[in-house]
Amino acid sequence: MKKIEHIGIAVNDLKTASNTYEKLLNSLVYKVEEVLTEGVTTAFLQNGPNKIELLEATSADSPIAKFIAKRGEGIHHIAFEVDDIKAEMERLKKEGFIMLNDEPKLGADNKLVCFVHPKGVNGVLIELCQEIGSL
Ligand code: ZN
Repeated sequence: MKKIEHIGIAVNDLKTASNTYEKLLNSLVYKVEEVLTEGVTTAFLQNGPNKIELLEATSADSPIAKFIAKRGEGIHHIAFEVDDIKAEMERLKKEGFIMLNDEPKLGADNKLVCFVHPKGVNGVLIELCQEIGSL
């Protein structure tokens, strides 16, 4: 795995949170995108080599809505950049990690993504992401 690509933060209200993080990082949201497959709207801010992804649920059965209901707002996942998502998924499966999806899927920000179950990673949801342009 390469660098941390972004940290995902579950928020109740994307507009309010965007405003807060724009002030915090002194940088503007550069992309707002709805990810239908995940039931979320995301907003991205760049911070040096990393990004912050703010996630707001678009429906009550969205994983973000469930997360917030259970744990409140806060850090939802850490995403690592990978060169070859399929190879990395295979490697992690062999190491005994539980993948939340069998195949990479289309995520926000022009990425193929997959998630590793937090159960095997000390309670942290891990996302792997590969830039689609690099396929
Ligand atoms: Zn993410």
